[in-house]
Parts: sequence; C-alpha cells; structure tokens
Amino acid sequence: MSDVKMDDIISLAKRRGFVYPGSEIYGGMAGMYDYGPYGVELLNNLKKAWWKEQVYDRDDFFGLDSAIFKDPRVWDASGHTSGFSDPLAECKGCNTRIRVDKELAKIGVKADEKMSEAELNKLFDENRDKIPCPKCGKKEFGPVRAFNLLVKTNMGDLSGDADLKHPVYLPGEACQGIYLNFKNVVDTTPAKVPFGIAQIGKAFRNEISPRNFLFRTREMEQADTQYFIKPHENKEAYERIKQARLDWYVQMGIKPENLRLTQHDNLVFYAADAWDIEYNFPSYGFDELEGIHDRTDYDLTQHSKFSGTDLSYMDPTTNEKYIPWILETSVGMGRMFLAFLSDAYHEEELNGEKRVVLKLKPELAPVKVAVSPLLKNKPELVDKAREVYTMLKKEFGAVMWDDNGNIGKRYRRQDEIGTPYCVVIDFDTLEGDTKDTVTVRNRDTTEQSRVSIADLAKQLQY
Ligand code: ATP
Repeated sequence: MSDVKMDDIISLAKRRGFVYPGSEIYGGMAGMYDYGPYGVELLNNLKKAWWKEQVYDRDDFFGLDSAIFKDPRVWDASGHTSGFSDPLAECKGCNTRIRVDKELAKIGVKADEKMSEAELNKLFDENRDKIPCPKCGKKEFGPVRAFNLLVKTNMGDLSGDADLKHPVYLPGEACQGIYLNFKNVVDTTPAKVPFGIAQIGKAFRNEISPRNFLFRTREMEQADTQYFIKPHENKEAYERIKQARLDWYVQMGIKPENLRLTQHDNLVFYAADAWDIEYNFPSYGFDELEGIHDRTDYDLTQHSKFSGTDLSYMDPTTNEKYIPWILETSVGMGRMFLAFLSDAYHEEELNGEKRVVLKLKPELAPVKVAVSPLLKNKPELVDKAREVYTMLKKEFGAVMWDDNGNIGKRYRRQDEIGTPYCVVIDFDTLEGDTKDTVTVRNRDTTEQSRVSIADLAKQLQY
C-alpha cells in the first residue's frame, strides 16, 4: 500500500485549486469534479505529453476529435445497449446500491462484470454473510442484476416526450468515434496498415458507486489509441505497445514500484488478450490505470454489419482485402491525473516543520515559475519584479505573480502547487555587485542561487 493517504490528496487538491467537487455550492453531485486553475494546467500538460508520445513522436499515428453524439445504432453495434452493465445489488434496509464484483473482490473473491448474472448471484449468495452494506451495515441485499451504464439523452428529439422512446446516448467509451472514422482517415491521409489513430474524448457512465475521488467518476475523458494491423499480426505489436505504455509512465516520473502489469483472467468473447497497467493508488492500493486490449476484428466487423458500409481495407501494394485487427490502449485522464498527483506528493521535514511538496516533472508542473518582490510595499522592488515577471511570462506562459505573505509562506504555497522555481527580486537586485541578479529557489533541493536576469529564461528551461 502506498504511504500517501487519499484524504491528503483530496485536501491538497481542494486547498490549492486543483480539483473541486462538482456543483459544490448546491451540495455537490456524486461522481462529478471540476478542475481548478492549477488542475486544468496539470491536466492539459498530461494531455500534451500523451499526445506528443502518441502522435508527434510517431510517423504512423493520426489524431482525431469525434463528436460526442453518435447515431444510436453505434451502441447496438458495439454491444453497449445490450451488454454494457455492471452487477448491482440493493440493500433492503436503506436502498444503497453496491457493485457486487467490487465488493466480492474486497473480500478476496475473484469476480468481474463479464460474468453472467447467474454466476454472480451464485458467488454473491455464497459470500453474503461477509458483505455488509457500506451505509447501514446490514447484510440484507436483494438479488444481483445487471445495470446498464449508458447515459441517455433526448438530443434531437423535439417531441417533448419525457420517456425517451428513441434515446441518443452519451458515449459509454470515447473510442467508438475512432472506428467510425477509420475509413475517413484511410481515405484522407497517407495512413497505411499498420497505423494508429489517437483521440482524447469524453465518456459517460452511470456508475453504480462513484468512488475514490477521480478514480471512478460518471463523466470522464479517455485518452485512446487504436492501432490497426493485419489479421493475426498482433502478438509482437501487442507486447511492444504494452511495454511502451508502461515505460511512458516511468519516463514521465511515476515511481516504477507503483506500477504493474496484470493480465485479465476473463476475456470478453471477441478479445485475444487484455492487460491492465495498474497503479498503487493512495489508501486502497493497486487498481486499473490503463487498459491494453487485443480486440481482433470485432469493432470494424460490427460497424460494417450495422452500418452497411464496408470497412475492410485494401492493401495498396498486395491488393489484399481484409478487416484490420485492432490493438487498443485506453486510459481515463482523471485516473492518470490522480496517479501523477499522488505519486508527486511528498511530505518532508524542513527546519523542524512539515512541508508538502509536489515533485512533478517541470513539464507537467501547473506553474513553471513564481515571481515575487521581497516586499510588496517597496515600489522599486515591485517594478523590477513586474519587469522580470513579464519577461518570464512571455517565455513560459504559466508564470505566477506571488506577493502574498512572507517569503517562507510563498515557498510553502509554491511547493504545494509543484512550482519548480521561485524567483525573488530583493534589494541586491537593485544595486552593487549583484545588480540585475535575482534569487532562484529550487523546489526539490530548496537551495537558492543567484542568477543574472539576462540568463534567467535560459537557466529555467526544462
Ligand atoms: P473498471 O473495471 O475500473 O470499471 P473498465 O475496465 O470498465 O474499468 P475500460 O472500459 O477499459 O475500463 O476503460 C478504459 C479506461 O477508462 C480505464 O482504464 C480507466 O482509466 C478509465 N475509466 C473507466 N471507467 C472510469 C470511470 N468511471 N471513471 C474514471 N475513469 C474511468
């Protein structure tokens, strides 16, 4: 188990403007969160880093941003209208609903949402006496039933009918937009199999019990890649992708001991293989961060059938025609955010006091540099600091003006935001041998050095 506590992460996220509970002034809404000023920076930096790795650093990947609303038949073809469900049981005492597979897992009984209702009921019945209601503590649940997670809307339905006879769904997973545009991308770009499409898109799930902060939410963003390959040429590419995704997390600063790869025991009927990259989440341990799936030709075959559009691929050199197989990677941006925030979180002792510091890689840090005049009531210091601030802002964008409280307090605040450098303009900046130099304080070492203003932008590059 990680030493970091989830409550500390939630508290830091709120205190320092990373993440707020959704609709908070109305009492909050389960499974919804809003990213604050520093949170949106970290989130965007993670997306940029992911996009760089998946698209810019590759020759064979193309980006996409597909519409949220899709023809409802998409979700019939994908199997979501019939089979996208989680096993639910309701407490007879207080009506609290539990996700049965997760509660069984907590007591060490292997179960997952792919099992049939009958299988889950049997397992649940054998273990009922060990599963109390998380709210009232009673052990009196009704039977297990499959609960469909798709969220319905009345988009385009102008009948005013409230009972949604023809619902249009919010996406249960973002990747479907990639399959719908496979042919478009082949027809309009130099893409040749094997190639990939990458997308970061919104998805919505009526989760039975949203929990563990950003880990399980009802609205999420998924960063997906779908790699289209020739049938049966999956094994080597799958191993390579799995390893590359694991390596990326380490490269971006996650401690290797907090990551592991786990293979699924129970595969959906069309899959050839499935692994999860798991992260050691605070307070509850290892759980799925990213899924890596070998999906065979299921997706393009289904959409060919349901849409009537042939999605097979014609190899331009061999004239072979086939439905490509797909290797998928899919990670929720919220889970990724939570993993990076938790991994960067450190409590240390500094001069007999506790300091909380986010040791994020500078490229991920929400604020690159904070600039302060030593005293905010000395116009000569403030004017010079404004000059330095404006110069650095042009260079780095995410630069913060910070003149609130004494210097020690400012450092503590910036440590908690994860700002790699604090620049202070003091009286030595204004005159003497040290004229036009500033103090630069390093977040990780807490050491201070003097740097000339002329060299500052270069010295702070990351
Ligand atoms: P779980 O078993 O945790 O419900 P899953 O196997 O259903 O997840 P996938 O459908 O494979 O997840 O989704 C791909 C990724 O999307 C997951 O690895 C996770 O990072 C993210 N994800 C899925 N559901 C949620 C959710 N409710 N909240 C936040 N992220 C999610």
